[in-house]
This record gives sequence, C-alpha cells and structure tokens, in this order.
Amino acid sequence: MRYAVLSDIHGNLEALEAVLADAATRTDTLLCLGDLVGYGADPVACVEMVAGRAQTITYGNHEQAVAGGLDLDWFNPHARAAAEWTRERLDEDHLRYLTALPLIAEVGDATLVHASPDRPDEWDYLISAEDGFNAFSAFATRLCFVGHSHLPGAWSLGSSGPEHLPGSIDLSLERGRRYIVNVGSVGQPRDRDPRAAYTIWDADRGTVSTRRVVYDVKTAAAKILRGGLPRFLADRLGVGS
Ligand code: ZN
Repeated sequence: MRYAVLSDIHGNLEALEAVLADAATRTDTLLCLGDLVGYGADPVACVEMVAGRAQTITYGNHEQAVAGGLDLDWFNPHARAAAEWTRERLDEDHLRYLTALPLIAEVGDATLVHASPDRPDEWDYLISAEDGFNAFSAFATRLCFVGHSHLPGAWSLGSSGPEHLPGSIDLSLERGRRYIVNVGSVGQPRDRDPRAAYTIWDADRGTVSTRRVVYDVKTAAAKILRGGLPRFLADRLGVGS
C-alpha cells in the first residue's frame, strides 16, 4: 500500500488540488494529519475534498480553533483573524464533522497525529533534534507521522544511534529503527520553499519520501486578498515562510 500523507492544508485549494493530482498515480490512498482550515480562502472546499477521499484524518489545532472552542488568545493576530473568518464560512455540519476528528490514530505500523504524540492536545511543536527524540516514548508503532510546524524532516532511533534529518527526506526504513516523520505543509510551507509539500509512505517497499509540488500561488494569494483576510497571509505563500 502506498499512502499520500498530507498535513496543514489550511484552506489552500490550489495547493491541495496540485498535491492530489501529483499523488493520484503515485499512491493508493490518502491520510491527513489535520489543519484542513485556517489561513486560506477555501476552507469549505478543502474540508469536503479531503473528507471525501481520506482513509483517516486527525484533528489539528486550527480545527479546534474554528470548531472546538480553543481560546483564540493563544493565536497570533493573523491566525486569530483567519480562524474567525473561517468559522463564519463553515456550517454546523462542517463544524460537527471537524470537532469529531480523532486527535491520534493508527494505520498499520504508523501513528498519525497533528502535533507531538506526547500530550497531542497541548499542540507542542517538534522542531529541534531533542524535541523529536523525547517524543518516541509516547507512541508504540514503528512510525509516527506528524505535521504542525510546516517543516518537513525526520527523527530516527535505533541501535546505531539517534539521527535527526531536517528538511525534505528520502528514507529507506531500516529494520530495528523507529521514525518520526514531519510530512511538511500542503497549503503553507514555511521552509522558504513555496512549493506544496506532502509525503509518500510506501509500506510494502519500506520507503518514506517528501514530495514538493508547484501550484498556482498567485491565485491562492489573490483569493486571500479578495476574501478580506490579512495581506500577510497572501504574501507569505510566495516566499514559503
Ligand atoms: Zn498548521
């Protein structure tokens, strides 16, 4: 089975469509780690498109912000404005659907979670080498896929020692090692590469690799401006920050 693992779509329909087109011939099924909404101009279309296709979807902090009563004081002003804007556009069914998503799920020998598998509802970021290594005791599977930081990368633990691989990855999984993989962000990459990011997990071959996909950034940014969302959210798409 070949899985397309997506995270942090953030209402960016242009990026999502480009990723789904790229994944169509390369993968068999779709997994999603949350943050379908927030920041981008097409939350409804993104929720419906992913809900209709994904085998499993986990709950992100932006789902909690629009549907689950996360205190928005927790967010910076741009994220807060986007959450309020998004909430107005989702109907009761969407909000109920998003609220019911699980915080953590397992598919085969992988755990899926938006932020850290350790206390996932605290929304801790895994960024440094230490952040990742400390999280291995919080899950039992061989693999754990995460999102949230919008930065692709991986951590691995095994008898030959710990390894931290920041940036896009192309891994052949080694016997006896365990892995945490950040799949990157579809709709708002923050590693100075504006291309959409997602990850392909080929469970039969034992490989995990980041893919980058060019999409129509101009249209996505123009819709953000037209919708009355903060300009900063449009500008950052062009630089991938
Ligand atoms: Zn996010």
